[in-house]
Amino acid sequence: MQALPPLAATAAASSFLAWAVRGRSASVFGRSVWRGPGDTQALALTFDDGPSESTPHILDILAGHRVPATFFQCGANVDRLPHVAREVAAGGHEIGNHSYTHPYLFLRSPKTIENELRRTQETIQSHTAFSPIWFRAPYGARWFGLGAAQRNLKLTGVMWSAIGYDWNRRADEVVARLAASASNGAILCLHDGRELQRKPDVSATVEAVRRLVPLLLDRGYKFETIGRLLCPKT
Ligand SMILES: [Zn+2]
Repeated sequence: MQALPPLAATAAASSFLAWAVRGRSASVFGRSVWRGPGDTQALALTFDDGPSESTPHILDILAGHRVPATFFQCGANVDRLPHVAREVAAGGHEIGNHSYTHPYLFLRSPKTIENELRRTQETIQSHTAFSPIWFRAPYGARWFGLGAAQRNLKLTGVMWSAIGYDWNRRADEVVARLAASASNGAILCLHDGRELQRKPDVSATVEAVRRLVPLLLDRGYKFETIGRLLCPKT
């Protein structure tokens, strides 16, 4: 086999790195999943960046349809709105870890990465008594040290099969995008907060959830938490 010329080798290495950091199917920087099994008509709704002041509106919609979801919460938001985090847990939803301050983990030290995850575990456990087993990296960006941090805290990474871009799209665009991406085992990503913003405007997300849930129920989909989607026997 011929060696790659230096420039081509550099390009190949950098595209591998880009995939390792952001690729939804990559487990280079820690075990990670991005979709569930395709043999049953079930999918998972996931919400990142909460809790926020608007999370209860989403909880009301989900409760109205008796639909569970998974909320990847930021520790700083949980410390700010612990009663909302508790409402999420009380609603029968699953809580995942989305870091404490929502940093790009890219280029951060292993110690910083583990501190972000550990502080969030402790915050969620102390306010909700829930112990997350899933971690979603802020911006979907992973880095060296994340794998060890996940192992130490018994967390598995979760990416998504489709993302709503609900932070900058209208509700109808978000619904069209996610409805088109729905399939058996899909993990759909929305946001009930906007990073660490106070009182963020998540009205497009709320409206998208209001329309999307009945639409997918009508198509015959069952909604599961990430835990039940990935480990149906537990
Ligand atoms: Zn996020």
